[in-house]
Amino acid sequence: MGQTVDILNLSNCELDAWLQARGHPSYRRKQVLSWVFQQLVTDFNEMTNLPQNLREELQGSFHVEGSRVLAVSESSDGSTAKLLIALQDGQKIETVRMLYKFGYSVCVSSQVGCKVGCPFCASGAGGFVRNLSAGEMLAQVLCANRSLAGSGRVSSLVVMGMGEPLDNFDNLVRFLDLAHDRERLGLSYRHMTVSTAGLVPRILDLAALRLPITLAISLHAATDSLRDRLVPLNRAYPLAALIEAADAYVSTTGRRITFEYALIQDVNDSLECARQLARLVRGMKCHVNLIPLNPVEGVSMSRSVRRDEFAAVLAEERIEVTVRRELGLDIDAACGQLRRRLAEP
Ligand code: SAH
Ligand code: SF4
Repeated sequence: MGQTVDILNLSNCELDAWLQARGHPSYRRKQVLSWVFQQLVTDFNEMTNLPQNLREELQGSFHVEGSRVLAVSESSDGSTAKLLIALQDGQKIETVRMLYKFGYSVCVSSQVGCKVGCPFCASGAGGFVRNLSAGEMLAQVLCANRSLAGSGRVSSLVVMGMGEPLDNFDNLVRFLDLAHDRERLGLSYRHMTVSTAGLVPRILDLAALRLPITLAISLHAATDSLRDRLVPLNRAYPLAALIEAADAYVSTTGRRITFEYALIQDVNDSLECARQLARLVRGMKCHVNLIPLNPVEGVSMSRSVRRDEFAAVLAEERIEVTVRRELGLDIDAACGQLRRRLAEP
C-alpha cells in the first residue's frame, strides 16, 4: 500500500478538493463513498462506474482501510460476535457486534491500550500504545457490517471498546461526524454513545459541541477514596469536578447521562455504597446502569452477588436504574479480553 492515505479518514471537503484538483466532477465523491460504505468494497479497481484514470489516481493516493479481521468468535446464542482486527501497523484491537431488539449495535475501540489503568479492565493492563484514527474507528463498523454478510447493518454504536475515547478527542469527534454523514454510515447521533472514565475538560469540550449523543460516565464508586483506586483518573478529576461536568453536559445538551457502575464483590457493592451513589446523583437527569463484572485473567476481583439488593436501594431512592443485559460472556466480550488472550501464549 506504500505511502497512501486511508480514504476513510477524509472528510467531504477534503475529498472534494482532491477530486477538483484532478479535474473530476464532484458527483464522483458520492460514487466512491457508496462503493466504500454501501458495497463494502476495498479495492478501487472494483469501482466499475468510475473511469479508469480516476481509479488509478485513487489507487496512487489512497487505500480503503488498513484493517484486517483476524478472528471472529460468535457467542453460542448468536447474539454477539467479537472481531479481532489487525491494523495496518500490525497492532490489534477488538470490536464487538451485538444484536438488540432494535437492531445491530457495534462496540468500537478508540485506542490501542489505555492510559487510565483501571485494575479490573483488560484494556489498560498492557499500558497505552497509540490513538486510533477516525478511519480506524469507521473501519470497525465496516468490518462489523461485512461480518453480517448482507443479513443486516449496524444501526447504532457505542464507543466502549478498548481505550479512553475522550483522550483521543479530535479523532473521536471526526469519527462521530463521519459516521453520521449520510453518504457514509448515516447513523443518527441519538444512536451513538460515548463512554468515558471521566476526563473532565474533554467532557466540557464535548458538551460545547452540542451533539445529541449519549454520554456514559464510568463511575464505579461514589466516594473519592474508593474511586481513586478503581478509576485512577479520579486522582486528577475527583467526583465533585466530575459531577459538575456531568451537570454541565446535561444542561448544555439536554441529554440524559448514563452512569456505569460495575458491581464488584465486597469492593463497591454494599448497600451503603448504593445509598452514597444515590446521594451523589440525586436530582440529575441521569440513569444508573449496573454492569456485571466480566472476569479478567489475573484479576482477583469478582462479580457481585448483591446486584438485586443494590438496584432495589437505588430504586427506593428514586434513581432510575437498569441492569445491563449480559452479552457474550462465553466469548470474552469484555473490554480488551480477546486481544489479551490471543496476545499471550
Ligand atoms: N475507557 C472508557 C470506555 C471503554 S471501557 C470507560 O472507561 O468508560 C467501557 C466500559 O467497560 C467502562 O464502563 C468500563 O469501566 C467497563 N469495564 C472494563 N472492564 C470491565 C470488566 N472486566 N467488567 C465489566 N465492565 C468492565
Ligand atoms: Fe481504560 Fe476504560 Fe479500561 Fe479504565 S475501563 S482502563 S478507562 S478502557
